Amino acid sequence: MVFPAHTLFYNMTLKKSIITDKKYGRIEITRNPRARRIIMRVKEGCICITLPVIASEKEVQKILDKYGDRLLIQKNRQPQRKIDFEYSIDADNFSLRLFPGNNNRFQIKREDEQRFTLICPADCDFTDAKTNEFLRKVIKSVIRKRAKEVLPARLTYFAKKHGFSFMDVKVRDSHTRWGSCSNKGNISLSMYLMMLSNELIDYVLLHELCHTKEMNHSDSFWKLLDSVTASRAKALRAELKRHHTTF
Ligand SMILES: [Zn+2]
Repeated sequence: MVFPAHTLFYNMTLKKSIITDKKYGRIEITRNPRARRIIMRVKEGCICITLPVIASEKEVQKILDKYGDRLLIQKNRQPQRKIDFEYSIDADNFSLRLFPGNNNRFQIKREDEQRFTLICPADCDFTDAKTNEFLRKVIKSVIRKRAKEVLPARLTYFAKKHGFSFMDVKVRDSHTRWGSCSNKGNISLSMYLMMLSNELIDYVLLHELCHTKEMNHSDSFWKLLDSVTASRAKALRAELKRHHTTF
């Protein structure tokens, strides 16, 4: 592995660094003083390593020597969907397609509340990795925008309907969890919920709202969740497990 000169693991102000390795490809290294252990995962075709302390290059290398092959298998299991004119997203609250335009520009066109078109130059080279990365960024920003329009409002609606109260709601670019609720009642929701059906979005929102009353996954939690999902809590959980947040 070759570390670029600007990768300074000893610089306290630097939290994230990205390196490119011949074997492993893109590796994102985050140093988080609050992390208690080393966390490794694969996100969008990128190996992400979070380190609890100031780590040296040697330590990162050691981690890769030990766990690299396993991470590589995981990485290859979730291939990124290539973005080209065939690409589209069709969900209940959000849809997006790509369309060739007449000029040399990329442009987002909002067709109505939930339908977006990403107009690309007709001769756009989708095989170019940089172009794909750019398009992914653009699509992400549209998903985030739509998620911020839909999710907090829907959460508030369900809270009122079923008598829950929460402190705050945040929409995040989270690939690891669909949602979470802190013990202070702050709810986080993944913007990628927009890729799911209404039924599953509502399940996640209700799941987090139930955590404002039951902080664990005890029997009383599932009873409460059943009472607001027409006794479908476990069935919906099973259905949700078939989906993942990769985009
Ligand atoms: Zn939960």
